Amino acid sequence: MPIELLFPSRCPGCGAWGARPCESCLASFGPPVRVPGAGPPVFALAAYGGAARELVLAFKERGRRELAAVFGALVAAAVPRLPGVGPGAWLVPAPSRASAARARGGSHVLRMARASGFSAAPALAFARGVRDSVRLDTASRQANLAGRVRLVPGRLPPPGAPVVLLDDVVTTGSTARACVSVLKAAGIGVPAVLTLTTARRTHSYG
Ligand SMILES: [Zn+2]
Repeated sequence: MPIELLFPSRCPGCGAWGARPCESCLASFGPPVRVPGAGPPVFALAAYGGAARELVLAFKERGRRELAAVFGALVAAAVPRLPGVGPGAWLVPAPSRASAARARGGSHVLRMARASGFSAAPALAFARGVRDSVRLDTASRQANLAGRVRLVPGRLPPPGAPVVLLDDVVTTGSTARACVSVLKAAGIGVPAVLTLTTARRTHSYG
């Protein structure tokens, strides 16, 4: 049995006793900061490390679904601060591999999007054949993703709505680029990408 089920009242970031993530771990997340790099403008709330990484992994891989409320609140606070994103923004979650989403009981990013109070449109999915990209370099990721992100009919945001692509972690940015280009091809503009964390080493927080 996972330790979390035996001790559900520990902070999923640091293990301290408490019903929720502790203040110290939550303080790992700040306002949206632009992640340097080409492609669509990506904004992150934390570097992918330490307590921030632990909280994301607890939510994504360890079944701590209650963190949707915590992350949803962070997203709700961040979205209005993104440049070019007005009120009435729609959130489009970056897709999860179908097998991973099934194992998690649904898309964790969609769950977080819905918890934010913004309208969420699960408009993107991976086509079959997309491998887990964790161990691939940038070029391999691009090849892996090329043509593999598709629109989900009937799940698109309304025409003209400002759309923010939402994800939990950005690494090379390949997924974000593929998602934004698919949306763009459908006439959907994406002024900003919002991710909880960034694994880019060039990113620093003051
Ligand atoms: Zn903590």
